[in-house]
Amino acid sequence: MTRIGLIGGTFDPFHNGHRRLVEAVLISGQVDRVILMVAGQQPHKTKVKVSAAGYRFEMALRGVADLSQVEVSDLEIRRPGRSYTVDTLALLRGQLAPEDEIVLVYGSDVLFDLTTWRSPEIILSSADVLIAHRGGIGQQAAKDRAEQLRRDFSARIDFLNAPMLELSATEVREAAVRGELDTGKIPERVAALITRHDLYGYDEELARVDPAVWHQLADYECQVRPLLNHKRLLHSLNVMRYAMHLANKHGVSVEKAGIAGLMHDCAKCLEAHTVLHYARLAGDPELLEPALAHGPAGAWLARHQFGIEDPEILRAIHYHTTGSGDMSVLDLLIYVADKVEPARTYHNLEAIREAAETDLVQAMRLCLVEVEAFLERENKPSHPYAQAALEKLGIPTHHPPAPDKQETRLTLEQ
Ligand code: ATP
Repeated sequence: MTRIGLIGGTFDPFHNGHRRLVEAVLISGQVDRVILMVAGQQPHKTKVKVSAAGYRFEMALRGVADLSQVEVSDLEIRRPGRSYTVDTLALLRGQLAPEDEIVLVYGSDVLFDLTTWRSPEIILSSADVLIAHRGGIGQQAAKDRAEQLRRDFSARIDFLNAPMLELSATEVREAAVRGELDTGKIPERVAALITRHDLYGYDEELARVDPAVWHQLADYECQVRPLLNHKRLLHSLNVMRYAMHLANKHGVSVEKAGIAGLMHDCAKCLEAHTVLHYARLAGDPELLEPALAHGPAGAWLARHQFGIEDPEILRAIHYHTTGSGDMSVLDLLIYVADKVEPARTYHNLEAIREAAETDLVQAMRLCLVEVEAFLERENKPSHPYAQAALEKLGIPTHHPPAPDKQETRLTLEQ
């Protein structure tokens, strides 16, 4: 029999308080291993902006990367819609050996929320509970509450006898926004991820976006998640957030920008022949080259697999690799966001980012100039769509498409 400590949490971000909790549970000898369950869409956090699941999963992974007895589970974040602990427990049970035992591990604050969750009587009868005293909640108050739950639900609640850290995710997020993350608050690897992806940048602004939009994006993230590797998912989430920020600045629909940003690379990690297949179905013979076909292929997938019908969103996905001679503001915004999202590192980014704040056309110009210079260095041809975009924006083109380009495309089309 294995005793599994289940620590569910938002982990926005994963901080040293979580880490201390994990270590204390393992040291206590009350469990053999720990599962960190990254929370999906929580019914009781409807008014609070929660970072995308892909980021929170990655932070939890990094936070316990050196602890071999800890596994990070994506069971909740794989499922669209709201997540209820009672359902998660049932699903997890189905994955374990019948003799395995689940021990629910919580900070003492959770004792006071538990009865507002769905079916607390089922949760409390199906697992033992282990509670860590947390700052902000008096120890006697926690003990009294536990006693009440024992009486009302026959709950089996025990307390962990180990000092915790006085930290909350809210406090750590605020420190991140001020640029004051230190290793006293958060594991170094997690801090590096936050900084690299500017994870809490634009948070104040994005917190004003309608919660319904965040729920829709979270559902789309669930759907696109199996198609992308970790790196590509993080990139897509970065483009999503940055595009939403730009949309806000330029009076474009934040919802459309978020969806297009999240979905723009949805075909990128598929096998090359599959990408070409979808790109052909999209019906644009100009974009069948391996490096470019994921644009139309993504638009096709977004429509036929994810049910996105909005032509503006589909267009922005379709042309995000080349641009075109007739770009909408949303097209410009997705193209630019893809090139200069926070984790990108090539040069001249700052100038493009600065331009993007006030003048998207100028930002697009600067991007195209960079791309042209890159293609020239690599001795690669420029795509006719990119040339059309250059022309439209009055940028002289230096190197025309290779003479054999047409032939290349025909070969790929077969
Ligand atoms: P906030 O409530 O500010 O969003 P949080 O860190 O309490 O942040 P979660 O990430 O959902 O929220 O916490 C996951 C679990 O870890 C909960 O059971 C919580 O009680 C526990 N926990 C969080 N911080 C600490 C801490 N400093 N010490 C002990 N347990 C903690």
